[in-house]
Amino acid sequence: MRRSSLLALGVLLLILAALGAKSLLISLPPVESSPGGFDASRAKARLAFILGDQRPHPADSPADDAVRARLIATLQQMGLQPIVRDQFACNDFQKARYVSCARVRNVIAILGPHKGKALLLSAHYDSVPVGPGASDDGIGVATLLEVGSILKDRPLKRPVIVLFNEGEELGLIGARAFLTDPLSRSVDSVLNFEARGVTGPVTMFETSRPNAAAIDAFARAVKRPFASSLSTDVYHLLPNDTDVTTYNERGWLALNFAMAGNETRYHSPGDDLAGLDRRSLQHMGNQALAVSTELSSGMPQVRGQRVFMDVLGRGLVQMPLAAGLVIFVLLLLSFAMIVWRRRAYGRALAAPIGAIVLGSVAGWLASLIMGAVRAGTYWRAHPEPSFVAIYATVLLGALVVLRTLGAGASREQLRAGTWLIFLLLGALLGSVASGAIIYFLAPPLVVLIGMAASKWWRGAETVGGLVAILILYLTWGEMLALLEVLFSPGPLWIAAPVAAIMMVPALAETHGLFGDAHRPALLAGSGAIALLSWTVVGLTPAYSQDHEQRFTIEHLTEFPSGKTYWSVLNDGAALPTSYSGLGKWTYGKLPSSDRERWFTSAPAAAGIQAPSVQLLEILQSGDERRIRLRLRANGAERILITVPATAHLRTAGIAGVVRPIAGDAASSGKFSIACTGRSCDGAELIIDAETSKPIPIIITGSSNGLPASAAPLLEGRPPNARPQYVPDQSVAAAHVNL
Ligand SMILES: [Zn+2]
Repeated sequence: MRRSSLLALGVLLLILAALGAKSLLISLPPVESSPGGFDASRAKARLAFILGDQRPHPADSPADDAVRARLIATLQQMGLQPIVRDQFACNDFQKARYVSCARVRNVIAILGPHKGKALLLSAHYDSVPVGPGASDDGIGVATLLEVGSILKDRPLKRPVIVLFNEGEELGLIGARAFLTDPLSRSVDSVLNFEARGVTGPVTMFETSRPNAAAIDAFARAVKRPFASSLSTDVYHLLPNDTDVTTYNERGWLALNFAMAGNETRYHSPGDDLAGLDRRSLQHMGNQALAVSTELSSGMPQVRGQRVFMDVLGRGLVQMPLAAGLVIFVLLLLSFAMIVWRRRAYGRALAAPIGAIVLGSVAGWLASLIMGAVRAGTYWRAHPEPSFVAIYATVLLGALVVLRTLGAGASREQLRAGTWLIFLLLGALLGSVASGAIIYFLAPPLVVLIGMAASKWWRGAETVGGLVAILILYLTWGEMLALLEVLFSPGPLWIAAPVAAIMMVPALAETHGLFGDAHRPALLAGSGAIALLSWTVVGLTPAYSQDHEQRFTIEHLTEFPSGKTYWSVLNDGAALPTSYSGLGKWTYGKLPSSDRERWFTSAPAAAGIQAPSVQLLEILQSGDERRIRLRLRANGAERILITVPATAHLRTAGIAGVVRPIAGDAASSGKFSIACTGRSCDGAELIIDAETSKPIPIIITGSSNGLPASAAPLLEGRPPNARPQYVPDQSVAAAHVNL
């Protein structure tokens, strides 16, 4: 093989190694406590006391009563006088036809003066029914307690309200309840602390809009920021919710923080104290203390919208959106002119765009093929090799295009074409999420400076190109690392286009080197690297002790038929061989649920009843009908009522807290009404429907735990598997006409 071919292959390996190593860009320092600072060890010890025996503690359960009692005791020990607000509340997930109700008890402590505009610190102390919630949201509880213990001894200029709310997991119910609290009227700013994982950097992923005041406070206070206007703008477009979604209707200054590393423990029994990373707690705590200190002294007096991004978690670059747009447009015009002058409009433009498209498609296809070969979430235990394999495939796809379509272009033409395409992609993304443009400014600016300086020194343009690639790697590499964390549950191919955009400038800059190389050897070498990477993925275990398989066992009873089933909710992988002795398993849907699952018939369990409704009153006026019902839980911890779309629900809820449903006329599909916790038994449910016909509803009750006959299923569950999102539970569903 020629020397240039070896060199070119070396460049490919270097690109892959850099992409493989980018997680270093988001690593956190070890825990160190400074005097007067946030002490993660003390915070975690307090959390351990509050969580007790670490059992799941959903809202309005005896386990949550115990957690709340220990939380209150801790606050009192700190010398604070916590108050408890006890009320039924219902919230709707704003973007779905869903009303969720529960009796919640918010725990509130007030620091500093009791008069004036207040800063709210918010976290939730309830967990999901499937896990102990040491991170979600134990990290928020631990953070608030430690920050509270530090702030209470400081002379505060204005009140700081510390809110431990209950019911976030059921649909932001605690936050909704707080908005009915007179205390909420004094609030002008909120910091919220959440988790969608158990490790990794704590990113600031949501702000109030416009964001200048929030960003001003954040940038001033936080020493190790991980945040960008790209992620806050994209988050805003997604249908995700935290308590801040509910708070936002008040127009408070808001900053929302969370970590997302190792999603396999999130909403599972693995979300325990052992899983909670103390470095993440320290990172969250440092930010919480710093921003609270900043905001408790007064509100920032700036306005408008900013674009911003952190640089390696060491500082925040920010500018007004308008300034960012001006620079962006000037860059776009400059590169359009350069492309024109260099006659780089043919292949030199088609090649980079083709490389990005074909590279991304290749990465997507390869992940599909691997998904067909290995069922289930094969990357779950070790996502890194799978992402590297995708990047190796992207690289192959990009190289094929650049060595064919782009081969005729000179390096200078290709450089100009590549950065114009880069800017055009920025314009495309920026038109959806304007905050994205911050990622498209520095690299082309450096290239442009290099081009201008080449009048005096010929090498300047190459130096500019290389520095741009370095900046691209440091900024986009961090973004890609966070994207991998966020998309570790899948789909993996999301990372492919981002990696492709990062690679093409590097390939364009080394265009000459690739031109000298022997093309068949180069492509064969690149193909071999991709194939080898996927072989490693194929041989890597899918699950580990730290990253277990999702595997929920349910016992289901359907009334009136009385049919009973075993059900397994997993990632679609085949069931353990021992399960075949229990019956013939089918993968599909059951009549009472839309979820795909494994199921087989099961022996009936004694004493299982579905929840029921007792009709109290029907008020009919024209086509409108108000139905009042009394809920009977019949032992269920959670009740879900499913109503068909044809019933045209207008409102639903518990008496006193009835809420509008389906405000969005464009949405369609069935309605759901949930009531969770002990207090649902005997509660009065009110539904307003726009129909005169009988309404066929499905009422489902579920409770943690399985009948004794489930022993062989529990014993046969694979060693590295645990329930996630849904607990092992007994479910009974009944069909009723209203
Ligand atoms: Zn949460």
